[in-house]
Amino acid sequence: MSERIKIAVQKSGRLSENSLDLLHRCGLQYARSQSRLYCAGENMPVDILLVRDDDIPSMVQQGVCELGIVGENVLREQQEADRETGNGQATVVRGLDFGYCRLSIAAPRETPYAGPQSLDGRRIATSYPAILGRYLARHGIEAKIVRLAGAVEIAPSLGQADFICDLVSSGNTLNANDLRETEVILDSEALLVATPRTLSPEKQAWVDRMQRRIDGVVRVRESKYIMLHAPRSAVAEISRLLPGSETPTVVSLDGCDNRVAMHAVCRETVFWETLEALKDAGASAMLVLPVEKMLA
Ligand code: ATP
Ligand code: ZN
Repeated sequence: MSERIKIAVQKSGRLSENSLDLLHRCGLQYARSQSRLYCAGENMPVDILLVRDDDIPSMVQQGVCELGIVGENVLREQQEADRETGNGQATVVRGLDFGYCRLSIAAPRETPYAGPQSLDGRRIATSYPAILGRYLARHGIEAKIVRLAGAVEIAPSLGQADFICDLVSSGNTLNANDLRETEVILDSEALLVATPRTLSPEKQAWVDRMQRRIDGVVRVRESKYIMLHAPRSAVAEISRLLPGSETPTVVSLDGCDNRVAMHAVCRETVFWETLEALKDAGASAMLVLPVEKMLA
């Protein structure tokens, strides 16, 4: 049996570019095959399977792929639908800091809304019947779920539904359809998921290695390396101001008794305001550098 691992990624859609970029940053080089379904890794025993996002949770759950990148909304819908069957689930490894959106209930602008009770006895169009069903059950509401595969946002104007439950990011699509968001029922981002199946030690080692690299890539995106000069007396105050940093390195400056150089990795975005606050605390010669790679 081959000891290569497979990662399931959305073939073409909103998550595709960021997902492939993430794998590329992990050092994975691959050739796109003619069929474009299967990309063999050229420098590691790691292959990419390009599929519809809806297929990713079950592929990972069944061990067809050891890892996958999928929206939390899609994973949760599958999990809710599988709740009765008791199937094992794909394991969430971590959020990937892209693909942010929310699953929300929305209504035509003129529809009155005073909380979830306003949904009682109404028709709600959605592609997420399982998540919506669970939400309604939790609130003790009886509503009719109208299942649609797409074009959910036009259901109210076609008279198919009174409300919709759909993904929103900017809200532009809702606005364009004269709808207003009334309730957020799930906040979502792209997730790295792993199979619950037991793997051979060789495969497990590659799964662990990819997980560590992905973790490093996601954490490194916001991280900055900051260097500055400061009066020795201001070291404590400046350490406090450095966003998300562990103990900074403090080194003496040649021929200078009362000034030091400080270096730190900041794990949060360094804003201009932060630099201004550091300057007010006595810092000078500040340099903020991007971090290329990080391994804990
Ligand atoms: P597929 O052909 O793979 O089934 P799809 O049409 O179901 O694609 P996309 O529209 O490409 O899916 O969205 C993929 C994922 O991107 C969504 O499941 C969601 O997690 C995320 N996403 C982020 N913002 C939005 C948005 N505004 N609308 C829809 N999805 C969004
Ligand atoms: Zn889909």
